[in-house]
Amino acid sequence: MSPPEILIVEDNPKNLKLVRDVLTHAGYQVVEAPTAEVGLELAAERPPDLVLMDLQLPGMGGMEALQVLKLGARTAAVPVVALTAFAMDDDRNRALAAGFDGYLAKPVSPRTLREEVDRFLQPSEESHV
Ligand code: MN
Repeated sequence: MSPPEILIVEDNPKNLKLVRDVLTHAGYQVVEAPTAEVGLELAAERPPDLVLMDLQLPGMGGMEALQVLKLGARTAAVPVVALTAFAMDDDRNRALAAGFDGYLAKPVSPRTLREEVDRFLQPSEESHV
C-alpha cells in the first residue's frame, strides 16, 4: 500500500521546505504546487488524500481554490487545511467558516503540523523505510 498523498499549495519556499521535510519524514508522500492554479490542476488529475492550502498566494487565493476543490466531483471529499501567516483568531474563524476542514497558523511548528495532519491521515508503516 502506498502512503497517503498530501498536496501542499504554498508559494513561500521556506515554509514549503519545512512542511515537506516534516511530512516526508513522517512517512507521507508529498506533492507540491507554488500556486493555486497548479495545485488545482494536480488535484484534478489525481485527487490527494489531504490538501494543505496557503491562503495568501499569487494569483488565485487559497479561499477561492478551496471553493473549486469543494465543487469538484473528485475532490469534494478531500480534507483541506488552511495555512495562514495571520495567527489572529478572526482568521481562524474565517477559514473554518469558509469551509476549510482545519487550520494551521504560520510559522507552523512541526509538532502542530503532525497533529493536524494525523487527525485526517495515518502514514503507512513501510513508508518509514
Ligand atoms: Mn503565501
